This record gives sequence, structure tokens and C-alpha cells, in this order.
Amino acid sequence: MQLFFRKVATSDGPFPIREALNVSELVDDRPDVTAVSPLETDLVAVSLGQGLMSVEGTLTAGLDMLCSRCLSPMHEDLKIEFRERFKQTSSVGEEEGEDGEFIAVTGDSFDIAPYCEELFVLHVPFAPVCSENCQGIAPAAGQNWSVGSDDRDDDDTKKIDPRLAGLKDFFK
Ligand SMILES: [Zn+2]
Repeated sequence: MQLFFRKVATSDGPFPIREALNVSELVDDRPDVTAVSPLETDLVAVSLGQGLMSVEGTLTAGLDMLCSRCLSPMHEDLKIEFRERFKQTSSVGEEEGEDGEFIAVTGDSFDIAPYCEELFVLHVPFAPVCSENCQGIAPAAGQNWSVGSDDRDDDDTKKIDPRLAGLKDFFK
């Protein structure tokens, strides 16, 4: 997904960037993500002059995940706003964007894919729930109880414990 400054600068109107990126490797370390569709880019690049280019639009992807409370399969559709400015510079570190105003890149072109992928990874839900009312795994059902020993469930226990402890004191 190379983006050429000259190509964008000489384009009649906004320069479209429509690609489908394979992002499955990016969620390899997420056991709760069971499948991911390609990351679709619907972006346009616009030359702002003086080697500055804006890239804006949306990134979309579908994720098959497991609910963090009850482990039921669920689906998440991601729609991510992408908005970056890139500036062509002659050498690395020569110019830096102030307050993230723009990203300095060297050469006639650069690969836009890593910036899309980075944003995607940031937007994969950390602890998705199948519904707001999800009660988690009912202790009475028992059959999945053994999975309750992973880190995430331990965290839940820690959150609840102080409150329960407080209630115990209250009823003394
Ligand atoms: Zn659930």
C-alpha cells in the first residue's frame, strides 16, 4: 500500500485508497479473537502542498470474539476513524511534527498499511461482553467453571471482593 506524494499531488481531486489488509496475525496473541475479516480501508489522500498530505476516512473490520464474561461466541464490527497528516522530509529526524501535527516520512512514497494496522490493534475491544446484561458463567451450571482461573476472572474477583467484605461487616 505504497502512497506516492507525487501521485497524490497530481491527482484530480482526492486520491482514493481502498484496500483489504490481512490483519489476522495482529490478533494472534488474543485467544478471545477466533476470526477476523480483512481490514477494509476507505480512505482518501489529499495533497495540502509543501510536501504535506492528509489521509482521512474509515477502517472497518469484523471480529469473531468470545465474551469476556460468559465465553459465548459474539461478533464485533469495528468502524475506526482514520485521520493523519504525513509530511515528506529529506532525512529522518529533520522535521518532526509538533504535538503529533503530522508524521514525518522520508522518500517519494511510504507504506500506509502499518498506520492502519496500528490503529486497528488499538481498537480491538479489550474485554468485550455479549450484552450489557451478561451475567457471566453461572456457578450453578458448573461446566465451564474451570476456565474461571484465568487472569481476567481473577481481576473480576478482586473488584468484587472488597464490596462483599464491606457487606459482611455491615451485617455483623
Ligand atoms: Zn456474555
